[in-house]
Amino acid sequence: MSISNNLNAIRAQLPQNVTLVAVSKTRPTADILEAYNAGQRIFGENKIREMSEKFEALPKDIAWHMIGHVQTNKVKFMAPFVGLVHGVDSLKLLQEINKQAAKHNRVIDCLLQMHIAEEETKFGLNEAELLELLGSGAFASLKNIKVKGLMGMATFTEKQSTIQREFKYLKSVFDNLKQRPESENFTAVILSMGMSGDYKLAIECGSTMVRIGSSIFGQR
Ligand SMILES: *Cc1c(COP(=O)(O)O)cnc(C)c1O
Repeated sequence: MSISNNLNAIRAQLPQNVTLVAVSKTRPTADILEAYNAGQRIFGENKIREMSEKFEALPKDIAWHMIGHVQTNKVKFMAPFVGLVHGVDSLKLLQEINKQAAKHNRVIDCLLQMHIAEEETKFGLNEAELLELLGSGAFASLKNIKVKGLMGMATFTEKQSTIQREFKYLKSVFDNLKQRPESENFTAVILSMGMSGDYKLAIECGSTMVRIGSSIFGQR
């Protein structure tokens, strides 16, 4: 199977309200161009340096999503161009993104990452931390970011019931956020969950954005 065939096969399965992020981390620009030529315009990377190099080298109508953990001291390198930052899990990081976005007269869209998996190693907020962040005066004062929703990663397991429980939990937190009033820097419209191994389940559970790498580009 070629990259474009893989891409078309996946697209054919996605409901209209679900956005596909093609996860191109570690892939050469030639692979990304093949997906681009097949119509894909949103790509996800997990390292800021790699994403910046690809941004420089590739067509400028690509939307680059940062899907990995973000180091505060590297935010400045992506601030000029990044389209959506999925992995925001602290006020401190949000403040740095806001500061760097302001330097470029931009408003950078962000998702707050929630910890939903059993593994200790995965980053993210719990529900209490999430609500505290969104309710804080410090958050209200940020003018150059906009929180658009939530992102989460399920436990790495074969057990579908575990993954399903975690996705359903994230969806329920997302639905609660939708009850909050929208503001200049907050709206709950994007729920980023689902990767190659679990995106069908994620969509059943209410995902609006899936991040798919190996099913498009092959095993890394
Ligand atoms: C690598 C990665 C993906 C894509 O994983 P695949 O299994 O290759 O689809 C999705 N989300 C995040 C956060 C990733 O780091």
